Amino acid sequence: MADIEFKFQIEADDDGYVSYECPFCKSTFSLNASEVQKDDPVYTEMYCPYCGLNDVPTNFYTKEVIEQTQNIAMNYMIDEINKAFKKITKNNNKYVKMTYKPLKNQSIKDLKTKEGTEEIFECKNCSNHVKVDYYLGKTKVYCAFCGIDIC
Ligand SMILES: [Zn+2]
Ligand SMILES: [Zn+2]
Repeated sequence: MADIEFKFQIEADDDGYVSYECPFCKSTFSLNASEVQKDDPVYTEMYCPYCGLNDVPTNFYTKEVIEQTQNIAMNYMIDEINKAFKKITKNNNKYVKMTYKPLKNQSIKDLKTKEGTEEIFECKNCSNHVKVDYYLGKTKVYCAFCGIDIC
């Protein structure tokens, strides 16, 4: 079976930022969508602005995003099953009778990035931005892209 690519969109806030969650300290922060999606350079790891630990970017997706990707994948499967059944039922003859009822697609929730009391920091090294809850970060804020202390 060929690889299937699922495309989905995460809604950004008014400043164009989308939420991420650190897999280590579970804190949430936001990154500029256009900076994350840049092709050059491609970021293969991401740093938590609060604890400074790093992992692959997919591990920083929030629960809502993971849930949505699962729903999209599920809908794709359901569509394929429905298509397959349609084919089978078309070939009905007097010996084989098959009927099918289409499965309902999962409803896909709108993803909204919530507005908080967050501050935007610019990294002097890579000039990308991170939006963090400064009070959570206390004294240090790390760049999510290159991991240096930008506070
Ligand atoms: Zn963290
Ligand atoms: Zn940086």
